[in-house]
Amino acid sequence: MSFAELGLSEKVLTAVTAAGYSTPTPIQAQAIPHVLARKDVLGIAQTGTGKTAAFTLPMLTILETGRARARMPRTLILEPTRELAAQVEENFTRYGVNQKLSVALLIGGVSFGDQDAKITRGVDVLIATPGRLLDHVERGKLLLTGVELLVIDEADRMLDMGFIPDIERICKLVPFTRQTLFFTATMPPEITRISEQFLHNPVRVEVSRPATAATTITQRLIASNPQDFEKRETLRRLIKGATDLQNAIVFCNRKRDVATLHKSLQKHGFPAVALHGDMDQYARMAALESFRTGENPILVASDVAARGLDIPAVSHVFNFDVPTHAEDYVHRIGRTGRAGREGASFTIVTRHDDKLVAAIEKLTGQSIAFEGPGLDALPPGEPREERRGRRDDKRSGSSRGRSERGRGRGDRPQRGHAEAEPLPTPEAAEAPRDAVRRQRPRDEAEPVRPGAPEREVRRRHRDDDDGPQVKGLGDHVPAFLLRPARIG
Ligand code: AMP
Repeated sequence: MSFAELGLSEKVLTAVTAAGYSTPTPIQAQAIPHVLARKDVLGIAQTGTGKTAAFTLPMLTILETGRARARMPRTLILEPTRELAAQVEENFTRYGVNQKLSVALLIGGVSFGDQDAKITRGVDVLIATPGRLLDHVERGKLLLTGVELLVIDEADRMLDMGFIPDIERICKLVPFTRQTLFFTATMPPEITRISEQFLHNPVRVEVSRPATAATTITQRLIASNPQDFEKRETLRRLIKGATDLQNAIVFCNRKRDVATLHKSLQKHGFPAVALHGDMDQYARMAALESFRTGENPILVASDVAARGLDIPAVSHVFNFDVPTHAEDYVHRIGRTGRAGREGASFTIVTRHDDKLVAAIEKLTGQSIAFEGPGLDALPPGEPREERRGRRDDKRSGSSRGRSERGRGRGDRPQRGHAEAEPLPTPEAAEAPRDAVRRQRPRDEAEPVRPGAPEREVRRRHRDDDDGPQVKGLGDHVPAFLLRPARIG
């Protein structure tokens, strides 16, 4: 099967050839003819399958006829995160080189003024995150009544992020007769419900079982004591011991832990950058770029921030935390082993994670082996009651809880002073690094407006957490990682 057989226009085919692609991926081969036939499509595909081009290429072909009108975009693509939206825009730039199309990006963290000006001139393709799109609609600057084609991308992630009510609202604002393309990596019941609501007689295109991890990925569990300083030490050991490590993404469940872990890795000389929801748009793009170019080959990220990012050839994925949603595990490790390449994923597991690991193994239908000693080899843990009590201390912000954590007390005997040297708090720690300085708290970058709609407040909290901020540690770094971590 070649691209020429799919019914795409000459201009698009020329651009695809120039981009270096000769054979359509399975999702492209299956979806493109249906999109061109103006059918609704339900595409079940993970990122990395080429699904962006599966809708971008036929859209470009369709948009060759007709013209955009002021304030009335002809097509609308909804993406859960700004980075994904920016990636889709890049696809339009790459494959639309031979066309004069107007593409606008409506994402948070960018001024309304420029976006307004572009919309007023008329756009063929509007790529937006749901919240920012509704903000524009509420300001009366944008009409969705001219939308002929709607793409809802990463629908299951939209669900995770609480965006479904926004999507339902948006779907009421676009014409009933529009064509809808709906992409999701997984089909939980709520996604099945909304797909039935939004799509009319869709063609279902599925490129792999939703929960199948690529077979080229070596997956391992690594046992660790549960305290964060122990986990950080385990992570450093893993990174240093990894064979053929070219670049890696380290996933944390909570954005606060992303920042803490990032600082800790930097402190230990690892060339790392962070990506989490509290960073402003500039800092996120800069971090991603320095990771992409290899300047900082370790990216510490939360699920929300990293979802769907197009980073080819990641050699390693490290799960600093076992993800709370089993499906996130599949997405995380899907960052490696792409397009038939070999990849490795290591998941740090503590004795409190047994249920989460069992859920992952059930979802993927595979059991994951421990590398090295299993959890049984670790010293016995403290009773659950005690742990719960300490967590409550932390939540209520009691000084007792803080001081206990600060002293590194946990399930195992207290470490020697030299080994567990008390470390500065993240705030006090010297972090004379641009990437860290650029990370303004989201509230500072984008304050919640007084009387803001409930969805805005909800968005603000979507990857909030109350995770512990255990302070750093000491260790040695191998020569290959000792080159200076150039930040920013
Ligand atoms: P996506 O699933 O859209 O995130 O795409 C994953 C990666 O596959 C991107 O780096 C694309 O540039 C690349 N890609 C898209 N289409 C093709 C193709 N037909 N052949 C090879 N790579 C492709």
